[in-house]
Amino acid sequence: MFDIQVNGAFGVDFNDDALTLDAFQFACSKLRATGIGLFFPTIITAPVESMGARIGKIVSFIEQDSTLDSLVAGLHIEGPFISRQSGYRGTHPEHAILDAQLDVAKRLLDFGRGRIRMLTLAPETDHQFKTTEYLTIQNVVVFGGHSDATFDCLSQAIEHGLKGFTHLGNGCALEVQRHENIISRVLALRKKLFVSLIADGIHLPYWLLRSFVEIIGAEKVIITSDSMSAAGMPPGEYLISGQPIVVDADRRTRHRDHNYLAGSASTLQEMRYRSDHWLPPNFAHVDLLFMRNATNLFNLT
Ligand SMILES: [Zn+2]
Repeated sequence: MFDIQVNGAFGVDFNDDALTLDAFQFACSKLRATGIGLFFPTIITAPVESMGARIGKIVSFIEQDSTLDSLVAGLHIEGPFISRQSGYRGTHPEHAILDAQLDVAKRLLDFGRGRIRMLTLAPETDHQFKTTEYLTIQNVVVFGGHSDATFDCLSQAIEHGLKGFTHLGNGCALEVQRHENIISRVLALRKKLFVSLIADGIHLPYWLLRSFVEIIGAEKVIITSDSMSAAGMPPGEYLISGQPIVVDADRRTRHRDHNYLAGSASTLQEMRYRSDHWLPPNFAHVDLLFMRNATNLFNLT
C-alpha cells in the first residue's frame, strides 16, 4: 500500500522538533509491517523555519538509511498556504498560516533537497496561481485542501497544474451554503482531480465514503490514513506538532481545547481491513484506491 499522508504513527509524531532517527526508523518499520510499501511523511503548517527544520531532519534521515529511502517515496507538505477561516483551517495553527508565496515555496523546496513530492494548499490564497504553477514545474504534485475555493478558482487552478483535492469532506466548515460549497465544487470537477479520502469511518461516515467512491470513480480516489502519532496505539493523549490531541476509545481524535478532528488514529491497514464496511458491493478496484492511483500519479511504477 502507498499512504500519501502520514503525520505520524505508533507513538511517533513526524512534526515533533525532537524527532530522532531511532524514533523515525521505529515508526517506519512498524508501518512497513502493516503492509505499507511507500508513504509520504507529512509536515503541517508551522512557522516556516520550524517547517524547514522538520523537513530537513526527515530528509537527512532518509539520506543516511537506504531502508528508509526505499520506503519514504517523498514528503507531503500540508500548509502553510491554507485558508485562515475557522473550520477550513482545522487544527493548523492560525498564526503560522500564509497566503501562497513563491519565495516561501522555494525555501520549503530547498529544505526538502528534491524530496518534496506533494503540497496541499488553498488555491484561493495563490495569487494568479503562481505557486501552483511553480511547484508543478518543480515536479511537486499540488492538491487543494483546507480550502473554500470557488468553482472558478478551482477550475483556473487546475489549468495551472492543480492535480487533486486533499481529504474531501474534512478541512471544511461544519456548516456550509447548501448548493455552493467546497464539497459540491470538487465533486463537479471530479473528472479533473484526484481526491483523497480518510477511510476511518469517523472523518467520513461509511455511507458517505461509499457514495464518494461511487461518484468520483475508482480511478480518481486515493485512500489515505492522514494518521497522527496515535495510529497503532491505545486511546489516550498524544501530541501532533506540539498540540494536545485526545484519542477516545472509539478512535476519534480531537484537539483537547476544541472539537476539531486532528488526523486519524487508524492505519491504512485498518482502513483496508474494514473496507467491506464502505466499499460498494463487488468492488474490484481496491488496489487502485490503496496503491496504484497514487503510484501512477507520482510516477512510481
Ligand atoms: Zn488536513
